[in-house]
Amino acid sequence: MIENPIKRRPTRKIRVGSVYVGGDAPISIQSMTNTETCDVDATVAQIQRCADAGVDIMRVSVPSMEAAEAFGKIRQRVSVPLVADIHFDHRIALAVADYGADCLRINPGNIGSDQKVREVVAAARHHGISIRIGVNAGSLEKDLQKKYGEPTGAALLESAMRHIDILDRLDFHEFKVSVKASNVFLTMDAYRLLSQQIDNPLHLGVTEAGIYRTGTVKSAIALGGLLMEGIGDTMRISLAAEPEDEVKIGFDILKSLGLRSNGINFIACPSCSRQEFNVIKVMQALEERLEDIRTPMDLSVIGCKVNGPGEAKEADIGIVGASPRSLVYRNGEKSHLIDTDQLVDEIEDMVRQRVKEIEEAKSKEIIRSSS
Ligand code: SF4
Repeated sequence: MIENPIKRRPTRKIRVGSVYVGGDAPISIQSMTNTETCDVDATVAQIQRCADAGVDIMRVSVPSMEAAEAFGKIRQRVSVPLVADIHFDHRIALAVADYGADCLRINPGNIGSDQKVREVVAAARHHGISIRIGVNAGSLEKDLQKKYGEPTGAALLESAMRHIDILDRLDFHEFKVSVKASNVFLTMDAYRLLSQQIDNPLHLGVTEAGIYRTGTVKSAIALGGLLMEGIGDTMRISLAAEPEDEVKIGFDILKSLGLRSNGINFIACPSCSRQEFNVIKVMQALEERLEDIRTPMDLSVIGCKVNGPGEAKEADIGIVGASPRSLVYRNGEKSHLIDTDQLVDEIEDMVRQRVKEIEEAKSKEIIRSSS
């Protein structure tokens, strides 16, 4: 087994409701609702779909006092920690703090007078909630645009430090910071610079990354690169797609780097003319059928004996394609043969059985360690 070379940058641990961010806490996955916040039912349903996909934290935009009230109702109906996304209006921040927000996404430098900033920080302190400072290349302050000519890593850093200094002066340290851009290099540059300046947790993201496929690639390159350098404590994949897809992709990035596990880690060959069954069709069916599983497990499904045994030996369950019967490995050992034309049903049964075994073993371990 290759040792994971990623050494996470030490950061301060803060809390977003029941989820810790930074320090030794697992890198959390966030997403954001795109429903009308005032449509409470639709927003709750969307948050629930994201929760089913494993989301750790959800962000909800709160553009008005009416939306703040709706936020309060949403808060009562979901258990996922919620970040209220607010721009400029400190009264909305105060309202959602009362309504049970777990984190405020608000930039202190944009709130207005010192008094208003102090009120928001006092409310955050009073309710034990954190703040996210979110700097975005698309909305960089005019003077910084003029000074740097265009958004650069240094410009994003300077903007972030202005907001950070305000919270530091108020002795408020329960915050995380993002410096997002839609360009891969700019995003990486900004986060690298910021990580050298502060020890607060960093919220990673490529903003306006684009549509599903290209946005996924951009995010995987920029966020994957930063995560490999140990930078990043929480992240959101921003796609013009359903929020639950953002969650799944976020987990796939973390899973590919061995930083988090969530459900099945599929290992499959790309298939070729040697395949003994239709690998692509079988994998598509399995991905759909096993989507609900959160227990971490490696499943290897390989089209023929060329690479099948090697991969199967490393997986919890491994299949080596052959006709008419394929060979099953369990925990790296040859186990039994199954009908190749029944692969999807057979594999699903085996995976669900294995999940049961793992969960039972976990429960026994918990009982043992608590007695
Ligand atoms: S494992 Fe076999 S079927 Fe799959 S790509 Fe390799 S040679 Fe082709």
